[in-house]
Amino acid sequence: MLQVGVNGYGTIGKRVADAVEAQPDMTLAGVAKTRPNYEAEAAVRKGYPLYAAIPDRADRFHDAGVDLAGDVEDLVIKSNVVVDTTPSGIGAANRELYDRYDTPAIFQGGEDADVADTSFVARANYDDAEGAQFVRVVSCNTTGLSRLLAPLREEYGVEKARVTLVRRGGDPGQTSRGPINDILPDPVEIPSHHGPDVQTIFPDLAIDTLGVKVPATLMHLHSVNVTLESAPDAEEVRRLLSEEPRLFVVPEVARIDGTGKLKEFAMDTGRPRGDLWENCIWERSISMEGRDLYLFQSIHQESDVIPENVDAVRAITGTAEQAESMAITDDRLGVGL
Ligand code: NAD
Repeated sequence: MLQVGVNGYGTIGKRVADAVEAQPDMTLAGVAKTRPNYEAEAAVRKGYPLYAAIPDRADRFHDAGVDLAGDVEDLVIKSNVVVDTTPSGIGAANRELYDRYDTPAIFQGGEDADVADTSFVARANYDDAEGAQFVRVVSCNTTGLSRLLAPLREEYGVEKARVTLVRRGGDPGQTSRGPINDILPDPVEIPSHHGPDVQTIFPDLAIDTLGVKVPATLMHLHSVNVTLESAPDAEEVRRLLSEEPRLFVVPEVARIDGTGKLKEFAMDTGRPRGDLWENCIWERSISMEGRDLYLFQSIHQESDVIPENVDAVRAITGTAEQAESMAITDDRLGVGL
């Protein structure tokens, strides 16, 4: 049984912790938090061992009546793998701690690619994590694009991808983020950083990306154009994408017209936190013009990287092959609509 520690218990960390607990071959060693806030309270109620991420602040937990199992260093020692889900830049600073105890670690997409030996998307480059000490699960957007491009590259070849990412201003809990009433080119530089990030997964891929930020919190929306090397018809592409468990082709008959109803559907079907781990691709948008594929897909930024983190634990420890790991993860989480 792999002992997995989670350092940083926020939007991504709390979901990774629950996902680890759901697996048959791993258990949660504990979670490290900086403050005894509502998320710490929820972790305690779930029975997760809680560690002080910043030892000097342990008193704050004691004062709030929250029991600690130790400091983050104790968690690192206890863990076979640590998933670092701290805010951007903190992961890189934590690297030395994991290195000191020879503990493999998985970082998140907010870190620069050079924090790790390899960037990671299970469907695209699982085997690259084998034998690595540090792996970076790429951002929500890069994960979503890589999952879509992997089967297209394998089946048809990709000449060039062009994507406009309409990005949510912040997560639902991020009250300090915006815009509240604006539409921003963000980043205004073209191409945006997203394309080069996808190239950390597919180094030979030609891809240009543009970013726009809007007053929304639910999901991102990608407007995708991929020039393929052959010219399948739209129905063939739809079938190919439907066969991928981590791609949800939103059926026309469902009458889901946007991210609001997608999230409503996730909640109605009992998904934890209303999470949508799959790319959500609108069936009706899948269109071919010659060799040009067009489609819209939505990405639930808070959850699409969760199955990837679980797979990265198995990949970095060499405890399962790609197909086996992805199948176990999907089965235990309920991925695949
Ligand atoms: P978050 O702010 O929701 O959570 C981070 C948690 O880490 C917070 O609870 C914070 O208190 C804690 N923390 C701060 N400093 C710490 C330290 N020194 N040690 C331990 N914990 C510390 O952030 P998040 O959205 O979960 O993002 C985490 C990482 O995941 C980032 O790299 C981010 O870019 C990436 N990511 C975020 C999203 C998203 O949409 N939220 C999607 C994909 C990837």
